[in-house]
Amino acid sequence: MTDALWLGWLCANFDVLRRLDPPEAERLLTAVRAGRDEGAHLAVLSRDLDLPAAEDVWRGPDPGPPGMGALRPGRPSADVLVCPGARCQRTVVRRSGVPVPFCAVDGVRLRPARA
Ligand SMILES: [Zn+2]
Repeated sequence: MTDALWLGWLCANFDVLRRLDPPEAERLLTAVRAGRDEGAHLAVLSRDLDLPAAEDVWRGPDPGPPGMGALRPGRPSADVLVCPGARCQRTVVRRSGVPVPFCAVDGVRLRPARA
């Protein structure tokens, strides 16, 4: 099983991966959905592609690229979207005028952290 941080990384970067290498992106998605551990492979991939590592995106002081904002204390939870399957760690700060993104891992739209 791929850990939630790296599932979140795959979820957040899936569109980028699919543009760069469609067959590999689909293979990874199939693998993590089947419960295989691709964390080590994704870590190598993030370095190869010069994308921020999962730990940096979700735990570091930098909220990461636009659309990948980490949870911040004091932010109203209604403004924070999470992946519905609760498997992947991705969190997105909702912005007006920006469509709600899909969770690549679960194939459904993100939902507010708390209804
Ligand atoms: Zn997700």
